[in-house]
Amino acid sequence: MDRKKIIIIGGGPAGQEAAYHLALHDYSVTLFEKEPDTGGHLNKVTKLFPDFGDGGAFQKELSDKLIHPNIELKTETRVTGLSKEGEKWVVKSDGDTNFYGDAVLLATGFTPFDATRKEELGYGIYDNVITSVDFESMLKIGKIVNYEGKTPQRIAFLNCVGSRDEKVGNPYCSRACCINAVKLAVCYKELLPDAEAYCFYIDMRMTGQQYEELYRTSQEKYGVTYIRGRISEAAATFDNKIQLKAEDTLAGLPLKMTVDILVLMVGMEASESTTKLATQNNIKGDYGFAASKGLNGHDNQTTKEGLFVAGTCKRPLTLQETIADAGSAAIQIMNYLRSDN
Ligand code: SF4
Repeated sequence: MDRKKIIIIGGGPAGQEAAYHLALHDYSVTLFEKEPDTGGHLNKVTKLFPDFGDGGAFQKELSDKLIHPNIELKTETRVTGLSKEGEKWVVKSDGDTNFYGDAVLLATGFTPFDATRKEELGYGIYDNVITSVDFESMLKIGKIVNYEGKTPQRIAFLNCVGSRDEKVGNPYCSRACCINAVKLAVCYKELLPDAEAYCFYIDMRMTGQQYEELYRTSQEKYGVTYIRGRISEAAATFDNKIQLKAEDTLAGLPLKMTVDILVLMVGMEASESTTKLATQNNIKGDYGFAASKGLNGHDNQTTKEGLFVAGTCKRPLTLQETIADAGSAAIQIMNYLRSDN
């Protein structure tokens, strides 16, 4: 009997984890990744929340598991088309090569919100307004500096940039950025204990295990200050600092503050390839993400037989949720291929 073949599109955490489980169970897997390396956004993360685990080491663990005779890895290969011909799924890559599979897993991930769309916050206009992705890159080299190369003594983090925001068309919560802001503020204070860190929030969504504890530790041990309120405007001062206008909604008072760096905690949006492939197959859901068949019990299946979804191509998820979801997707695919299809 021919071995069943599964095509996975996307080599981020979800794609890698699912490939590993499927290969272990003796299925033949072809994993497509458009970048030279697998890992996606995880490659940019130094410390994981909430336990400050090593992001690079975790990605290495995932990529090491891809070294398996049942896995064919195709990096630097962009998938341009996905369709079904008879019983087979056909994946078209750039270069117009067709690959055939018995099932397909879409694991095309998310893209960070483009902060230039929030013009009033000054990203792309003022040098010392940066995003959480930029801040993470500085942590990766162990050095936090402003645009002029000086050590910042006061930083503000602004939550919910591009999420919970009707004006940009994203009313949903991105799930990971509250705890990520706590993590970034703690990392900053560990590097620079005498510096000041402020975090502006709508409400702090500490929904995961150990999140609430870390939130508390960030205040009691590291002195991070949390201000409930949204920043309405950011502007540069004559010496290239950033002046913020906000309202402290707990105190009911307007607030002005000058900081060395403003960090925008950008949320997750559907990646271009997610929306494109989901549209081609009539599974496009809300906000351009891929739609699963149902949130309860059918969250890795789609309305198309043999087409499965995992991770943040469906909606914002944390890394822990993504890894668990990928394992679940692998089981659903195996169940499908073992039934009479
Ligand atoms: S996780 Fe927090 S920062 Fe992110 S969108 Fe939700 S409430 Fe806002």
